[in-house]
Amino acid sequence: MDEAKKTFELKKTISTSELNPGFKSDVLAHPDAQGLNVCFSCGTCSAGCPIHEVFPDYSPKKLVKMVKLGMREKVLSSPYIWYCATCRNCVERCPQNVKFFDILNVLKNMAAKDGYAPAAWVEQAKQSVETGIVFATEDSWVKKREELSLPSLKAVGEKVKKLIERVGIDKIKPKTG
Ligand code: SF4
Ligand code: SF4
Repeated sequence: MDEAKKTFELKKTISTSELNPGFKSDVLAHPDAQGLNVCFSCGTCSAGCPIHEVFPDYSPKKLVKMVKLGMREKVLSSPYIWYCATCRNCVERCPQNVKFFDILNVLKNMAAKDGYAPAAWVEQAKQSVETGIVFATEDSWVKKREELSLPSLKAVGEKVKKLIERVGIDKIKPKTG
């Protein structure tokens, strides 16, 4: 069983000792997560989610339920929460106007604070500060930009650096390498 599947597997019996009763309130404290309480578990979000189609264990409906139950550790430590393709189908299709995509972002921010941000994402933030773009740059690109009189990526990187420092992304440390 792969790592994501293992962390997200729901047992038939959930022990109350695994639950954190304050988790739902912590999530609801964020204005972007306000819709959580009106979800009636219809599953329309999961039915239209392209990631759910590929990884059936990834399910917006299931995630909402897990948050409501207080499964803090299980949700925040799951690699699945970083799989979202950001298409917003879940938001478009929800009959209750629950903005699952925004709720997921709240969960990802909480996970990052707890040290669960994927190392690759932290690395990309670092790369953005250094070069102004997310992926590694090649010298030939830099030269080509100069030839085309495009702005220096270094200058863009400085702006991104300020933004990243302002929101605290530079303080995030992944738990594992
Ligand atoms: S579509 Fe909306 S109401 Fe239905 S399960 Fe998803 S979030 Fe809940
Ligand atoms: S925004 Fe994410 S969770 Fe929502 S439907 Fe798209 S991939 Fe699925």
